[in-house]
Amino acid sequence: MSLRPLGKSTPQMSLSARNKLVADLRKQGIVDQRVLEILQKLPRHEFVDESWRAEAYKNKPLPIGQSQTISQPYIVALMTQALLEGATPRKRVLEIGTGSGYQTAVLAELGISVFSVERLKALSEAARERLRDLGYRNIHFGYNDGNAGWASHAPYDGIIVTAAAIDVPQALLDQLDQHGRLVIPAGPPQNQVLRVIDRNASGFEVRELAKVNFVPMLEGRA
Ligand code: SAH
Repeated sequence: MSLRPLGKSTPQMSLSARNKLVADLRKQGIVDQRVLEILQKLPRHEFVDESWRAEAYKNKPLPIGQSQTISQPYIVALMTQALLEGATPRKRVLEIGTGSGYQTAVLAELGISVFSVERLKALSEAARERLRDLGYRNIHFGYNDGNAGWASHAPYDGIIVTAAAIDVPQALLDQLDQHGRLVIPAGPPQNQVLRVIDRNASGFEVRELAKVNFVPMLEGRA
């Protein structure tokens, strides 16, 4: 892909912070080498508010404006690894919750055609501009309520949701391809579980990966 190895305002010292981040991710059980390499090189400081840049390579969520957060790198790595696992290639992926566009960039770095939907206009536009400036061309942005998925581009080999749904939206299940996989945090606040749902010939198979803490998936646009 076309990503610069270091962002325009990256102090060289952040290299050691990035190396430490990757070492942490390995310790936490991230084994997918592609995912580790991408998180090593992505300029995460360009995705957070200016005042949080110094914290950008810590393994924690950070504010991105509009009361939303960029996910913890470990969670991004875990969800991406879960999406990729196994033999089925994931070439067309729908993402619900563009936010800062960081998870979007991880998917784009994998060579995936990404369809990313965000319900907050300000975040959607900022992410679109940021990812264009970073040189990505394989991303389509939708400003919409992701509860409905993005039917006109369906079906998808994979769907990743980065906000927590109380119940898994039916539209997302419907828009999965025959061997598609949905990675989604679901459940009420304080009791969310990251689920991996595989479509197969006889229906859907559900696994639970981890307890998580995401911002809620809301309805409508704003
Ligand atoms: N993946 C993002 C995480 C952003 S936080 C990142 O890496 O920065 C979750 C995002 O989901 C927020 O931007 C929030 O506005 C968005 N969101 C919540 N409900 C949504 C919905 N119904 N449709 C689309 N986006 C939604």
